[in-house]
Amino acid sequence: MPTNLQDILDQIHEQVTARSDHGEVATYIPELARVDPKQFGLAVALPDGRLLSVGDAEVPFSIQSISKVFTLAIALGRVGNQLWKRVGREPSGHAFNSILQLEHEKGIPRNPFINAGAIVVTDVILASSSPKEALAGLLTFIRTAADDPNIYINEAVARSEKETGHRNLALAHFMRGFGNLTHEPELTLGTYFHQCAVEMSCRQLAMAGRFLVNARGMPHLISPSRIRRINALMMTCGHYDGSGDFAFRVGLPAKSGVGGGILVIVPGKASIAVWSPGLTPLGNSRLGTEAVHLLAQRTQWSVFG
Ligand code: GLU
Repeated sequence: MPTNLQDILDQIHEQVTARSDHGEVATYIPELARVDPKQFGLAVALPDGRLLSVGDAEVPFSIQSISKVFTLAIALGRVGNQLWKRVGREPSGHAFNSILQLEHEKGIPRNPFINAGAIVVTDVILASSSPKEALAGLLTFIRTAADDPNIYINEAVARSEKETGHRNLALAHFMRGFGNLTHEPELTLGTYFHQCAVEMSCRQLAMAGRFLVNARGMPHLISPSRIRRINALMMTCGHYDGSGDFAFRVGLPAKSGVGGGILVIVPGKASIAVWSPGLTPLGNSRLGTEAVHLLAQRTQWSVFG
């Protein structure tokens, strides 16, 4: 671990916030369209208990698809490898909300991190919990991982997404038509929209991600083999059809969300959260990606050495 990590974070902050090409915020969820795209935060949690941060690292943002990492861990805890009968483990090469592959693959989504896959994962959790219990369980999991009780769901964001969630509704109905959704689409999606509307700051998210680091000093909430597998899926599928490029540039398992956050895991070493709401056309944070690219370069934290 570099001794001057705080200096590295300060330099990255200066470099990245000087740029004007911060990308556009997501507008298809009206509540997210109101966020100022110029914000930028970065936090790194280390096994020795230190939490280093820079910029807007205390500002809560909508974690959106980053929630899919937590629901995947919970669903695997409930049904284990049975989950893979209903969701694949391959990168999609398509947009996060694409319906294209579902017809060819008989309603089985490519992976748990595209919308269709995450909706099935939520449906699996709902087999043993009511929507209220599922969301309470999710918050308990995240709060325990982050060691922070002050993490909540933003109801306005959940409502906003429900009002405009036609594509997700289409995915859910399509999968129900193939028998791969056991609940009514509205019920599963009500839970899914709320999980996406969890709000966290970079500091809280970096803390919550520690359960995927597998290091002494980090919380051990799931088994090491499950940690390895979730990290593998984050590396191959965590950035939708930008996953290959992220692995190429950064070389670390990560999960992005359309709120502009990215959770990045450095196996055995650190949990990183970055946030900047402006997105690339693929729906991933533009400055956030740039920042972790620089961070991985300067720390030599890529898993590829
Ligand atoms: N809640 C968003 C949706 O379902 C999540 C997408 C994302 O963060 O990439 O469209």
